[in-house]
Amino acid sequence: MPARILDGLKIRDEIFSELKSEISNLHAQGIRPGLAAVLVGENPASQVYVKNKIAACEQLGLASWLHTPPANVSTEYMLQLIRDLNADNNVDGILIQLPLPSQIDSKRVLEAVDPAKDVDGFHPVSMGMLVSNRPGLVACTPAGCMEILRRNNISIEGASAVVLGRSDIVGKPMALLLLHANATVTICHSKTRDLPDVIRSADILVAAIGKAGYVQPEWIKPGAAVIDVGTNKVTDLAEAVQLLGNFPERLEKFRAKGNVLIGDVHPDAIQVAGALSPVPGGVGPMTITMLMSNTVKAARLRRASTIAVARS
Ligand code: NAP
Repeated sequence: MPARILDGLKIRDEIFSELKSEISNLHAQGIRPGLAAVLVGENPASQVYVKNKIAACEQLGLASWLHTPPANVSTEYMLQLIRDLNADNNVDGILIQLPLPSQIDSKRVLEAVDPAKDVDGFHPVSMGMLVSNRPGLVACTPAGCMEILRRNNISIEGASAVVLGRSDIVGKPMALLLLHANATVTICHSKTRDLPDVIRSADILVAAIGKAGYVQPEWIKPGAAVIDVGTNKVTDLAEAVQLLGNFPERLEKFRAKGNVLIGDVHPDAIQVAGALSPVPGGVGPMTITMLMSNTVKAARLRRASTIAVARS
């Protein structure tokens, strides 16, 4: 029997509807949570990502501001911009769209963001809060993966979870979130030995390596829950045929369009896994969703005293 599909679009709609009611409660108390996005230069992919984030703010009734410094700005310019956004009480979340041009010291810029407004969860303070399992702002993609697992009633406690990839923005926070949910967690990376065997032990597999269809169906434990974070654009016909041989409709679309989005898990894994997040339509929509959720959470935490006064 093919795997149950873990539909990210459905969960996004659920969370958006919850956020809408929370945002209207905040409006009633005179608070309009707001996100400031900083997009340096004119990278077309980054422009699309930021446009989608601003559109989500508008859909939900969040305030949003877009700052677009030119590609040649200095680190000092960025630091001053962030100081201004940190000081602006209307701004609850600050998003610095990555990658930044090479002359900018990205680490210094990200570390300048007030941790209370760190809606991407990349600041070392946010990472530290996560390590020590204290409430804070968690990186959006792994937070979204947890929502997919929880809202589909996938049992995490006591499960054997394998996280494939150890990046600061996906793999590491993902492993910590699963650990705090009482999974037994193994983190794999490019130097891991006997990877297929390690993956075979997983009740829950989270794949985040950036290699199209890398995880083979026979590596997956029958019935496992598979969260595929990878988003890889495949443009080569032979590769598309190898990956989509059992999906003639998708292959047809590839032929018409010249490219297709493939996860890190081979699409045939649908025949082995018990549950699977598809690419596209699984983790992808959750990242913006959790950014919105983090912005509302940041407003709630940062403006707690205003909320308390309004209630009294
Ligand atoms: P990254 O920073 O490039 O990290 C990749 C990780 O995978 C590294 O830890 C690397 O190991 C490991 N790796 C690479 N090849 C491997 C192999 N053959 N076997 C085992 N491990 C291997 O990537 P990332 O930013 O975490 O992103 C991962 C994927 O998720 C990408 O496809 C990205 O596009 C996607 N993504 C999607 C979303 C979304 O919203 N859906 C958000 C973020 C990322 P080493 O550490 O040893 O090099």
